[in-house]
Amino acid sequence: MCGIVGYIGNKEAYPIILNGLKRLEYRGYDSAGVALYDGTTIQMAKTKGKVADLEARVAKEIATSGKLGIGHTRWATHGVPNDINSHPHYSNSGDLVIIHNGIIENYASIKKELINRGYTFKSDTDTEVLVNLIEEIKKKENVKLGKAVQIALNQVIGAYAIVLFDRNKPDEIVVAKLGSPLAIGIGDEEFFVASDATPFIEFTNNAIYLEDEEMAIIRLKKGVKVRKIKDDSLVDPYIQELQLNLEQIEKGGYDHFMLKEIYEQPSVIKDTYRGRLLADQGIIRLGGLEDHIKKFTNAQRIIIVACGTSWHAGLVAEYIFEEWARIPVEVEYASEFRYRNPIISDKDVVIAISQSGETADTLAAIKLAKQRGAFVYGVCNVVGSTISRETDSGTYTHAGPEIGVASTKAFTTQITVLTMIALRLAKDKGSISQSDYMKHLRELEMIPTLVSEALKEEEKIKEIAAVFKDARNFLYLGRGYNFPVALEGALKLKEISYIHAEGYPAAEMKHGPIALIDEQMPVVVIAVNSNHYEKVVSNIEEIKARKGKIIAVVTEGDTEVKELADYIMEVPRTPESLSPLVTTIPLQLLSYHIALMLGKNVDQPRNLAKSVTVE
Ligand code: GLU
Repeated sequence: MCGIVGYIGNKEAYPIILNGLKRLEYRGYDSAGVALYDGTTIQMAKTKGKVADLEARVAKEIATSGKLGIGHTRWATHGVPNDINSHPHYSNSGDLVIIHNGIIENYASIKKELINRGYTFKSDTDTEVLVNLIEEIKKKENVKLGKAVQIALNQVIGAYAIVLFDRNKPDEIVVAKLGSPLAIGIGDEEFFVASDATPFIEFTNNAIYLEDEEMAIIRLKKGVKVRKIKDDSLVDPYIQELQLNLEQIEKGGYDHFMLKEIYEQPSVIKDTYRGRLLADQGIIRLGGLEDHIKKFTNAQRIIIVACGTSWHAGLVAEYIFEEWARIPVEVEYASEFRYRNPIISDKDVVIAISQSGETADTLAAIKLAKQRGAFVYGVCNVVGSTISRETDSGTYTHAGPEIGVASTKAFTTQITVLTMIALRLAKDKGSISQSDYMKHLRELEMIPTLVSEALKEEEKIKEIAAVFKDARNFLYLGRGYNFPVALEGALKLKEISYIHAEGYPAAEMKHGPIALIDEQMPVVVIAVNSNHYEKVVSNIEEIKARKGKIIAVVTEGDTEVKELADYIMEVPRTPESLSPLVTTIPLQLLSYHIALMLGKNVDQPRNLAKSVTVE
């Protein structure tokens, strides 16, 4: 995730680029940069930090004239957030300038090849490799920029939206897309490009949304030419008339960030495992883990510390780690752990999970664990965050910025990372068979498709929400891997609808909460296919006997629970160990729709903050 913006036309580019970057900052915000070209000199400024930091630097350091400009807000994937790794990047000759949103997965082998040919690199980014590959092809094949871009992109694996220009062609910019978004705004003798239409909405309503594997050459006098990257065929682009306002575009056309983020899950789960999980080859490769595998496999125990939704992801991980890697796991609330003189030693590994990487209690728990000699591993979303710096090593979730206060995509991507870690450890320890390992890799790779399937239940879930929106209490029940999902479902409902909800292990219900059940009490039961299926069915019978209303999450095609339940939400069949990634989807949608129907502020619920940076 990052924001890119470009302009070529008859106006000064800088104010348009700067304003565009401010609007795109929600997409990524660890560094920012801009390049401006007036036909003679290219001016470039870039900095770690926010767009406001860039603005200050530009004011001090460069002239801002130029009717061609490109700008970027970065969300680092390759190389820490710092000034040098910020975009734009020059090619070695200084002629080509690029900005890039995405990941070039095979950048390492290309970089090696380019180094052999005498290229040098200033940054650690995959992007600088791409711009030099384009330069090398342009020179070697003696082709124009557009052609060189096309040949280069046929050699790279990964995802990208790129914008670049050539010092020798002041009236041209080239753009291309695969996996990351790119819109071209068509004005009157001026053109805009951006990750979404927000940077140019006040200048034009006409936009082309490039499709995957398409590129465009934009020439000031000649207009836009779109081609397929694979076979060079010309595309007749569809020019869309935009009817959205600024805020609607930022939310990708969704009414709320939370809903947008729920729907992003298939693609961000893929981003999380992209380049790390190679199912066909039986490989899981996590940069932060490679040098420390022995620490984990020799650990006497793994302690997971986290808060809120991240703590629930930790609970799911407990099941997965113990099942596959056979390492004992304890999951702790960071706030409790830090204040109870825990017994930790250098034989323990601590995994700290936090979306923002700034959670104060988790940070304090990390410090304590480090003092006592444990190896600490971070699982964070925000690149360069305090936790990612304070831990000994770690893995980013790559979910992109999460704006909705109620966490959704952070949860599923955390589980994805933790699942990959568990599988990798299991393989190294030999605690699962090669065939099971291969099977699980393929199953994990299928999850985005299954999440997309689960999202299709939204209309039905809306109807269920309408029936139960006035309930004052909810009970959420699940067993095994789906017990943490029950907790997470209840938390989502509490957070945004302010309805009291409790999550419980289904079998625990009879030790207390069953006293709450009467005909007013909706009970959400996760009753998908699992080793506990028959037991869960019995729990449902117990609730029915006391007139509770059953809303069940069931596996597609289920008949038994369907008979018993008052309402069902279907999810596709998944192996039990991966089912939380799918069963959590209907619960997110249920809480969203109930909150919406109650008129609550879904994205900014009362009393809460996105990252809890106080104790
Ligand atoms: N992979 C590139 C980098 O780490 C681009 C990341 C982004 O999309 O912001 O610089």
